[in-house]
Amino acid sequence: MNPFVSGAIWLSVYLGIVLAPVLVLLLAPTPASGGFWWDVSMGLGYAGITMMAVQFVLTARFKRATAPFGIDVIYAFHRYLAYALLVLILLHPTILVIRDPAQLSAILTPWTVPFEVSAGTASLLLLLFIVGVSAFRKPLRIPYEPWRATHLLLSIGAVGFAFVHMFGIGYYTEAAAVQAIWVLIGFSLVAIVFYVRLLRPWRLLHRPFRVAEVQPELAESWMLAVEPLGHEGFDFEPGQFAWLTVRKSPFTMHEHPFSIASSPDPHGRIEFVIKELGDFTRTVGQIPPGTVAYVDGPYGSFSIDRHPEAAGYVFLAGGIGIAPMMSMMRALAERGDARSHFAFAAHSTWDRIPLRDQVLALRKELDLEVVHVLEEPPEEEEWGGEEGWITKELLDRYLPPERADYHYFICGPVPMIRAMEAFLKELGIEPGNVHTELFDMV
Ligand SMILES: Cc1cc2nc3c(=O)[nH]c(=O)nc-3n(C[C@H](O)[C@H](O)[C@H](O)COP(=O)(O)OP(=O)(O)OC[C@H]3O[C@@H](n4cnc5c(N)ncnc54)[C@H](O)[C@@H]3O)c2cc1C
Repeated sequence: MNPFVSGAIWLSVYLGIVLAPVLVLLLAPTPASGGFWWDVSMGLGYAGITMMAVQFVLTARFKRATAPFGIDVIYAFHRYLAYALLVLILLHPTILVIRDPAQLSAILTPWTVPFEVSAGTASLLLLLFIVGVSAFRKPLRIPYEPWRATHLLLSIGAVGFAFVHMFGIGYYTEAAAVQAIWVLIGFSLVAIVFYVRLLRPWRLLHRPFRVAEVQPELAESWMLAVEPLGHEGFDFEPGQFAWLTVRKSPFTMHEHPFSIASSPDPHGRIEFVIKELGDFTRTVGQIPPGTVAYVDGPYGSFSIDRHPEAAGYVFLAGGIGIAPMMSMMRALAERGDARSHFAFAAHSTWDRIPLRDQVLALRKELDLEVVHVLEEPPEEEEWGGEEGWITKELLDRYLPPERADYHYFICGPVPMIRAMEAFLKELGIEPGNVHTELFDMV
């Protein structure tokens, strides 16, 4: 299905779910209204709680739902919706207090009011904490894994308190249709948590992989290959990524996303190229072959296979961003692709280019022009490559006249991605032909 059509369908589904509890009120017999602003406040509260529940769906990594957008877009959507739902939920008591300032004491002194009222305050405070800590996790230097576990537990708490608040107060929740829809939402929430935290890890546990090879690569990075143990592995599109768990149970939250750097293999072998960066990635070089690993994938929409109509492909990689490009270039070579392609690789020095020799070797099998752009090129006179950064002028010099018909894949540090997007726009490339992968989605 056309990605725009399926994207529109999923967006309509989202809006339908968020508005369902409010819309069903129009059908159900309702108690006497507390007035227009009272009803607005209730509607905002209901929409806010439903949005809180849907947040769990967005991060559940349902492949079919995330495919039209790409999972990084879904995570960004999750982040922005968190701000939106926080505003809606803050407006809910704000309107009530403006209408009747006496309500403020109920919020400020939760121990003096019935539990169902203070549950609302507890939910709001938890929500403020979750959103605040998530927004400032990096500046606060909170490690990823503890943050993720706490994020999940507190989010379940915030929704739980919101449900207690809503049903405890019981305003507009008496009609059977309204109750049915909330029961459905509550049940779906429990089912999602069950699926994500128990069922999916259990399935991964029964489809293990083993580490087949670990080889050093240039620029403090490692090639780690895994092979399926007793099953056929999974199909993927070149350029996609997977979550890797090594030396831990899939029930723990110690999984890391890595692009697949190899092309699809009939025996299910998968290669990653991993740059040493933090707690896990610094230990990759010490993983002995034979270690059991779990691979949850494939995910992502950063793939040439989504754009087969292209006149050719242009790969723009910064640093370890070459990994998904390698998968795509290898697949093109194996398919005997006859189109012309370009790979621009931006690195600091000649000795710090992961997969350098493998990319250069692909020129024998593929009509591929490789352009290395080095911040500090070698001193020797024979260096004939480019120096500095990838600029608009440099791209203009290399790209063919029919450049508008090519598709462009960019992966690297965020400033590089933004710069490339701007240059390509200035060079007249349609945004629909430009695809990006961010190695940082949380
Ligand atoms: C779609 C995608 C593809 C990627 N592909 C590659 C690749 O091919 N090669 C490569 O070297 N790196 C890749 N990365 C980056 C890689 O996931 C992180 O470098 C790695 O998870 C860091 O883990 P750490 O424990 O070593 O470092 P830490 O110091 O623990 O983490 C550093 C930062 O990495 C991010 N991170 C850590 N753990 C996770 C996690 N489980 N899920 C999401 N983000 C996390 C967080 O923002 C964290 O602040 C990719 C990232 C994404 C999102």
